[in-house]
Amino acid sequence: MSTETSTMEFQAEVQELLQIMIHSLYSHKEIFLRELISNASDALDKRRFEAVTRPEWQAEEEKYWIRLDPDPEQQSLTVSDNGIGMSRDEVVQNIGTIARSGTRKFLEELRSGDKAATDLPQMIGQFGVGFYSCFMVADEVELLTRKVGESKATLWQSEGDGRYRIEEAERDQPGTTIRLHFKEKPEPSEGETPDFTEEWTLRNVVRRYSDFVEYPIEMEVEKTEGEGEEAKAVKEIAVLNSRKPLWTRDRSDISEEEYQEFYRHLSHDWQEPMEAIHFRAEGTHDYTALLYLPKQKAMMPPEGGEPRSRLQLFVKRILIDPEFSELLPPWLRFIRGLVDSEDLPLNISRETLQHNRQVGQIRKRLVNKVLDALAKRLQNDRETYLVFWSAFGPMVKEGIYHDDGWKEKVAALSLFQSSAESEPVTLAEYIERMPEQQKEIYYLLGEDSKTLASSPHLEAFQAKGMEVLLLTDPVDAFAIDRLHEFEGKPLKSAEAGEVELESEEEKEEREKEQEARKDLLKAVEEPLQDWVGEVRLSNRLQDSPAVLVADSAGMNRLQEKLIREISQQDLPASKRILELNPKHPVVQRLFDLHGSPGDHDRFEEYCQLLYGQALLAEGSSLPDPAKFSKLLSRLLVEQ
Ligand code: ADP
Repeated sequence: MSTETSTMEFQAEVQELLQIMIHSLYSHKEIFLRELISNASDALDKRRFEAVTRPEWQAEEEKYWIRLDPDPEQQSLTVSDNGIGMSRDEVVQNIGTIARSGTRKFLEELRSGDKAATDLPQMIGQFGVGFYSCFMVADEVELLTRKVGESKATLWQSEGDGRYRIEEAERDQPGTTIRLHFKEKPEPSEGETPDFTEEWTLRNVVRRYSDFVEYPIEMEVEKTEGEGEEAKAVKEIAVLNSRKPLWTRDRSDISEEEYQEFYRHLSHDWQEPMEAIHFRAEGTHDYTALLYLPKQKAMMPPEGGEPRSRLQLFVKRILIDPEFSELLPPWLRFIRGLVDSEDLPLNISRETLQHNRQVGQIRKRLVNKVLDALAKRLQNDRETYLVFWSAFGPMVKEGIYHDDGWKEKVAALSLFQSSAESEPVTLAEYIERMPEQQKEIYYLLGEDSKTLASSPHLEAFQAKGMEVLLLTDPVDAFAIDRLHEFEGKPLKSAEAGEVELESEEEKEEREKEQEARKDLLKAVEEPLQDWVGEVRLSNRLQDSPAVLVADSAGMNRLQEKLIREISQQDLPASKRILELNPKHPVVQRLFDLHGSPGDHDRFEEYCQLLYGQALLAEGSSLPDPAKFSKLLSRLLVEQ
């Protein structure tokens, strides 16, 4: 580790970001303080959490605090905390040279130009570039920090001009102090910038943005004691925030704004959540839960490893685990929030918690609460639900597949694209619209709804006025398979071989023709035998010449594809059935060719072309594209 003073350059992206901050016209500049306090609070959380297993890391007298020291004469403000602090390397990493992925994304959005200046505060928080917002108000920033467990401190200083200085320093205690020197005169275009060294301003800003922070935000203030002649000014430490953890307060006392602010604090998502679920359970177990359903997939951290949910677990207001995964199943991992238990033991280990019965019961209750809230939203506010669903629907549907007891409820909340509607529909809505003779729910699996919508498989259904659900999420194949039926109606693939779509007479007629064409159908099978198990006449095609259907026992082709991808094995594809439309001119031409003995080669080529076409129509790829293309060219020339 280097100890000397060094002057370093910010990475280009950070410089660009600083320029944006420095020249920002955004009027709510006070959010810099929210960002600093929020960082301090995170640092205190970290220290307190680490101290559970390393008591020597505890703060003096277990007191954790954030302190503001304004200096009106110097036009400066110091924000300090006795949190975890940073090592020199961490300072360089977090505040210095490395443009973290967040910074890059932030800049991309800004450069794209469709974000207005008014979006800046949301974006600052969302992309984790909060510290740099200091440069909206300050022309010089100094950061002095000492990491818990280390004896040396680090001093970092920058004027936002593209460089920063870093050197070894001293600090009495672990923690971080950030000193801002405010810009002298705001440019006239910037409007009125408040004086951030004024007690009243600071009190207001803290109240507004950081009241729920559970650590005291302290500041020395002057108070008059005594009256008249006796009156004298005394200094005392005031706590600027009310500190009461939001979730311990009554729902009726919490404003919408406070819920939102707390969500931001918790999730670092600076958009409004869709909903807050806040309740107190009393009886066998006493606990309070506050769960937020986000609306959009804002800045969910990229998922790595096994998907798991993350809720904060408190016991009597003490944070036990910042990312406890047992309180919600993985398919609800987009939910942010916390549970504060009154009766779990404080010194409980993570391992014990995982198998704790009480935790299991809380989990059940939470899932039910979430599913009920979603059901209500679906019923009463479809528009918002649609936004939510397009972001998180695929995750929620994993709940059908995992089927830990909520399969039916989750299925009822699921929306699917349908061949008949442009907006997605629920299964119940689908059933309600089914024609009387229809007994099953039909679906078609594929990779995109456009290809599916023009699939030959749909033709007969559409001709009969039946809807087909067009399922394109990778999870759909497995979810549908697990669900099996909904409200007593079996779910059936429209690709399945044995879908009954014709009347008795039609069936009889087709079977007769089938019998008559027996030899011909066998002859078509010949050149396709590597891929096709059977060739028969179709009862479902209207405009297309041929279609591939699954043998009723076989796996559907999407499942096969997924399993092939997951297992990375060259699983042999199960052979399917090629159905031909006897009314189609192309098929009739095939029949003619079969009748003329000199055309055997042409007949085979026709078979291969028809098979290739059926594959393309359903969005599958060809086994031998070069050969297909050659055959097609030859045919085009002949015509
Ligand atoms: P964010 O807080 O959203 O990650 P910031 O730019 O505000 O983004 O901060 C960058 C990082 O610097 C933080 O994630 C944290 O690791 C570190 N940091 C900032 N302030 C402090 C502090 N007061 N104490 C300890 N670490 C801090």
